[in-house]
Amino acid sequence: MKDTQRTEDDQLVSPSRRAFFRRFAPEPEQVVPDSSYPRPPWAVENKLFLALCTQCDQCIDQCPMRVLGRSDEREEILAGRPILDLSYGSCDFCGQCVDACPSGALSREKGKKRQVIPQLSGSCQAELGLYCNLCEETCSEQAIRFGADKKPVIDLSLCSGCGECALDCYSRVLVMAKA
Ligand code: SF4
Ligand code: SF4
Ligand code: SF4
Repeated sequence: MKDTQRTEDDQLVSPSRRAFFRRFAPEPEQVVPDSSYPRPPWAVENKLFLALCTQCDQCIDQCPMRVLGRSDEREEILAGRPILDLSYGSCDFCGQCVDACPSGALSREKGKKRQVIPQLSGSCQAELGLYCNLCEETCSEQAIRFGADKKPVIDLSLCSGCGECALDCYSRVLVMAKA
């Protein structure tokens, strides 16, 4: 039976799910690896996330922007966990992922909403003397301004981590990095 066809209670009490959960949940004293990928918005800190997330995929299934996927990492404890990938889309913080999460691995109270921030990874068009301010124009939070050196300056205190600026950067020098 598919997870989406189960009731929430079924997921919480099913012996097979508990066994699965025990297999992949870290022991209290265990040092756990961090994922190289960002987690979905509102994910709790890494060790708690790995303990709570049952890999039910409900966050992934609910995301209307299709920006959540499964980790392809080799470590058993990280593999298959939900990750945020803004390579081909942005997040509008609709909250459907956190609202769908039955385990508390995503939590408005305990989690971190912004999981990624934009970073400049090379010379942008404006810096090279060409006209471009697409990232500044696209940012709904007014978090990007151009400095005297013609480089985009990102004010992280305003940035939501939506990923729109990186999507619009046609020279691909603005990239979203794990926060
Ligand atoms: S907040 Fe909405 S758009 Fe963003 S990852 Fe969650 S479900 Fe997807
Ligand atoms: S984060 Fe929550 S909704 Fe997403 S796979 Fe883990 S337990 Fe399921
Ligand atoms: S990630 Fe979103 S909010 Fe942050 S600078 Fe880019 S467009 Fe603006």
